[in-house]
Amino acid sequence: MSVTDAICAEISATTGQAFSLDAETQVGGGCINASARFRGRCGREFFVKRNAADKLDMFEAEAEGLQALAGARAIRVPAVVCVGKVGTEAFIVMEHIEFGRGDAGSQQRLGKELAALHRHTASRYGWHRDNTIGATPQINTQTSGWVEFLRDQRLGYQLQRAETKGAKAGLLKKGRRLLDGLDYYFEAYRPEASLLHGDLWSGNYAFDSENAPIIFDPAVYFGDREFDMAMTELFGGFQPSFYMAYERAWPLDSGYVRRKGLYKLYHILNHFNLFGGAYADQAESMLDELLHCLP
Ligand code: ADP
Repeated sequence: MSVTDAICAEISATTGQAFSLDAETQVGGGCINASARFRGRCGREFFVKRNAADKLDMFEAEAEGLQALAGARAIRVPAVVCVGKVGTEAFIVMEHIEFGRGDAGSQQRLGKELAALHRHTASRYGWHRDNTIGATPQINTQTSGWVEFLRDQRLGYQLQRAETKGAKAGLLKKGRRLLDGLDYYFEAYRPEASLLHGDLWSGNYAFDSENAPIIFDPAVYFGDREFDMAMTELFGGFQPSFYMAYERAWPLDSGYVRRKGLYKLYHILNHFNLFGGAYADQAESMLDELLHCLP
C-alpha cells in the first residue's frame, strides 16, 4: 500500500466515512513540510502535511497545539483529523480550509480574536510538552518565573545552539551579558502566562471564505503575550487596524516597546540556527541595541 493510500485509510478510519482519493494537489508556502490538498470522490477535502518518519513527534505536537488553540474558542484553527506514521513517512491530516481575501473588517477581527486567545491563561509558563519553532526544538518545561523561562528556555537555549552552529565569540559574549541583565526589563512587569500561537508571522494566518481569521502552524505554549505581538512586527504583514483592535481589546504594557527586541531576538537567533548567514549580523545588532538600554 502506498503512503497516500495509507493516509486515506487513516482518514476513513478516523472519520468513520470511507475516503477515496480523487485528486491530490501540492500546496506551496510552507517552510518545513510537503503539503497537499486531498480531494475525495465524495467531495470532502483534507489538508495533509508529510515529512520523514522521525518527525512524527513534531506533528503530534502540532496537533496538540492546534487542539489547544481550538479549545480557547477565540480564533478559527483547522480541525485536526489524525496524525500518524507509515513506513518512512510521518503525516498530519487536518480540515482543508478554502482561503479568502479578507474584507475591510478582517484585520480588526484578527486583532480582537488574538487578544481573546491571550486571555486564556495558565498558572505557569511553558506547556505540558516540548514542540518545535521552525525545525528547531522548543523547550517548554513549566516554570513559575517568566524571566527564568525566557533566559533558560528561549534566549539561552538558542544561544547554546548558536554556539554549536559556529556563531562568533563576540555575539555569544553579548548574548551572555544580555541574559545576565534580563531582570532589568521586567522590574515593573510580570506578564500573565497567556496561551500563545508562538510563531505568528504573516505566513501563519489567513482569512477563510467568510473573511474570518484563521491561524495555523503554531508553536504553542503559555507565555508573555508580547512574544506573539513582537513576532507580528518582525517580518510585517499585519495592518494598523489589527494593532488598534488588539490594543482596544487588551492594551499592551508601556514597557512593550523596550521588551519587544528580546522577543524578536529569539526568532532571529532561531533563523541563524536554521539558515545561518546574515542573521548573525542582525542578531548582533539587536543585541547591541538591547545591551545599550541596560543601566
Ligand atoms: P509548514 O509546516 O511546512 O510551514 P504550513 O502549516 O505553514 O506548512 O502550511 C503551508 C501552507 O499551506 C500555508 O502557508 C497555507 O497557505 C496552507 N495551509 C495551511 N493549513 C491549511 C489548511 N488547513 N487548509 C488549507 N490550506 C492550508
